[in-house]
Amino acid sequence: MYNTEHKPYFSEELLRWYEINKRDLPWRRHRDPYYIWVSEIMLQQTRVDTVIPYFHRFIEHFPTIQALADAPEDDVLKCWEGLGYYSRARNLQAAARQVTELYEGVMPSGKEEVSGLKGIGPYTSGAIRSIAFNIPAAAVDGNVMRVLSRFFLIEEDIMKVKTRTKMEDLVLTLVPEGRASDFTQGLMELGALICTPKSPKCLVCPVMEHCSARLEGKEESLPIKTKAKPPRREDRLTAIVEGTGVHAGKILIRKRPSTGLLAGMWELPHVLVDSGEVPPGSLSESEAMNHLSEALLIEGVPVTPNSYVMNTEHIFSHIHWHMGVYRCTWQDAPITGLQAAESAAAYETGIEHFRWIEVEDMERYAFPNVFIRILNAYFSL
Ligand code: SF4
Repeated sequence: MYNTEHKPYFSEELLRWYEINKRDLPWRRHRDPYYIWVSEIMLQQTRVDTVIPYFHRFIEHFPTIQALADAPEDDVLKCWEGLGYYSRARNLQAAARQVTELYEGVMPSGKEEVSGLKGIGPYTSGAIRSIAFNIPAAAVDGNVMRVLSRFFLIEEDIMKVKTRTKMEDLVLTLVPEGRASDFTQGLMELGALICTPKSPKCLVCPVMEHCSARLEGKEESLPIKTKAKPPRREDRLTAIVEGTGVHAGKILIRKRPSTGLLAGMWELPHVLVDSGEVPPGSLSESEAMNHLSEALLIEGVPVTPNSYVMNTEHIFSHIHWHMGVYRCTWQDAPITGLQAAESAAAYETGIEHFRWIEVEDMERYAFPNVFIRILNAYFSL
């Protein structure tokens, strides 16, 4: 059982501290549930400083739930470009469409209604309901669990659902009457500014006097968190395909499928090196170029790789891409094999998910960060 003796002290001191120390963040200037919602989705896995310019840009482009619901998906992804975890943007738009269809464009405040919206889990639901509507609701994420684990000396694995549920119950007993909005934000702010993962600033912490972890010297060892599995390695060969003939001076990009990883975003053509057949990273340059041209031909992209450009990496939560990038030329010569010939013809006539672009066209397509890095390096060669 954890220490519950100092609950009123914790809540009062936290609120007092928050009133004086809260940061002036753009989404805090209004109680508009849409703003709170957008900010909370953007802040998942992302730092406040990174989010601020994106938030301004997003609200400028899509000032209301209706505007977001009505926008083409490509525009939403373009506005999100660089923030990562793009399913957040797609879900946000899908949920905006739900709100317009089911609630006439007005964000609901009920637990079931909010939780029923796409991309809104228990944390975001709690954040929106408490911050925007001042309803006592628990918004428990990693930051909040860290603060609570330490103050109340909860020595249980925060990766377990049971522990999270326990913390949600605890939060509901801590929210002072009529102060849900400030309490939620105060708890988040304390985790972000003072009770940080490493080297918590206990000496300036508003609740240090009765913090159990600090009193027992355990502030650095809490919370208890089992390590997530490291992301799986994938070796990928990427082609910068330079056009010839009418496409001279342009390069080929393709659109990813509308579901799954990086759904609906644009990228350079790339192929997986099967690690079952080839040990990771063991291909020589000529082997890599052969594999790239053969694998792309099977996909109907006929190219001749010419030279190595760069290596780069991208880490998703569950996959780690190691990418070798090669400069290639589009093969104008007739390709043997019916499939390749048909596909080549299809590209020439502008198949839906491929485009030939120049540097200026990068503005019009949403690319994941890793491809922006490669394209910027290539275009500045
Ligand atoms: S005293 Fe230290 S460990 Fe305790 S809540 Fe404050 S910053 Fe966190």
